Amino acid sequence: MDIPVNATPAKAAMPVHCAMNQFQVQDGDLVIGGERLTQLVGRLGQTPFYAYDRSLMAQRVAELRAVLPVGLKLHYAMKANPLPQLVKFMVGLVDGIDIASAGELKVAMAAHANPLEVSFAGPGKREAELLAAVNAGVLINLESFREVTALEAICASTGLTARVALRVNPDFELKGSGMRMGGGAKPFGVDVEQIPQMLKAVAHAGLGFEGFHIFAGSQSLQANAICEAQQKSFELALQLSALAPAPVRSINLGGGLGVPYYPGEKRLELALIGENLHLLAQRAEAELPGAALVLELGRYLVAEAGVYVTRVLDRKLSRGQVFLVTDGGLNHHLSASGNFGQVVRKNYPVAIGNRMDSRSKEIASVVGPLCTPLDLLADRMDLPVAQAGDLFVVFQSGAYGASASPQGFLGHPACLEVLV
Ligand SMILES: *Cc1c(COP(=O)(O)O)cnc(C)c1O
Repeated sequence: MDIPVNATPAKAAMPVHCAMNQFQVQDGDLVIGGERLTQLVGRLGQTPFYAYDRSLMAQRVAELRAVLPVGLKLHYAMKANPLPQLVKFMVGLVDGIDIASAGELKVAMAAHANPLEVSFAGPGKREAELLAAVNAGVLINLESFREVTALEAICASTGLTARVALRVNPDFELKGSGMRMGGGAKPFGVDVEQIPQMLKAVAHAGLGFEGFHIFAGSQSLQANAICEAQQKSFELALQLSALAPAPVRSINLGGGLGVPYYPGEKRLELALIGENLHLLAQRAEAELPGAALVLELGRYLVAEAGVYVTRVLDRKLSRGQVFLVTDGGLNHHLSASGNFGQVVRKNYPVAIGNRMDSRSKEIASVVGPLCTPLDLLADRMDLPVAQAGDLFVVFQSGAYGASASPQGFLGHPACLEVLV
């Protein structure tokens, strides 16, 4: 059979980018968790799957710890990747876990997270979720007056005291952030203008006030912007503490640290962020003794440790354009298809994981098995010439992958997830 490999692309190729990844190559195979990809696939006996490398997550945390002030608490926001084994692994590395539902609370508790260092945020907490949180003894980030009333009733009926912090919607936002979570009109938290009134309500309801939570945005690659947002968040918490019904014990400065996905994006300058947080920690010690600073990171801790691996099922040529059709796509990896909040679709860093040394290249598009043009994993990229049976790999896939994708869409099998 003649397979045209040097087909002229129908349209101009997208810009080529160097593989943005930290994985080694051995005999043409990508090495993941110390194992060659073809071996790993053989051992798992199936594609598609996500693999998360423990050593890379540990390395991320160590890099952060090296620049952060000693007393600062590093939390893992588990919505980035809620795989139970991964959460368990993170519990051993970080100081606390941030949850966003009673479902996540269960996973965090099963992973033996210390409830004193678990905090619960989210704009719509059901009464049953609030009750579960009070029973577990975790910190609840209050996001509405309704939650104050609901907790007052729960505390009256259980005899327990709810631990609460106020999630403030600030009057600023994280600049250059991929997803804005604060500033302007937002469903998250309570507008700073309403906080004085809410502090009174919390005191009146007899809830156990512990501090403030300010989350200004996420996925920022600008260290300066992150420092500015953290500084403003700290100032705001300091001002509001004058009105607090009890001493402030925790100031959660949110997160916002992003990872590079697209051509031209650079890794964050951690040193700058560390210096800024050292200054803020000194100020906290002087101006709010007893208050701990908290950083809550999801994506930054896990995104780069993960790969998504799918097998090429078919190779097709349509009017001069090569299409590699794989056994998984947006049903498992919505973000890589560009449909998870992205404004403009761009290619994630990818590779043909069993042809890393191949010099024979071509422009190809990689699509998943779904009957929709949205199911596009790589748009006209310069890739090693691949055939059915080859392994297509998407890097930077450890966060907002499997759990953030519509796995039921079109009824294909769910993907496997493994910690390596
Ligand atoms: C989503 C979320 C995070 C994590 O954001 P990342 O961008 O993944 O670091 C942290 N805190 C809260 C309250 C969130 O909603």
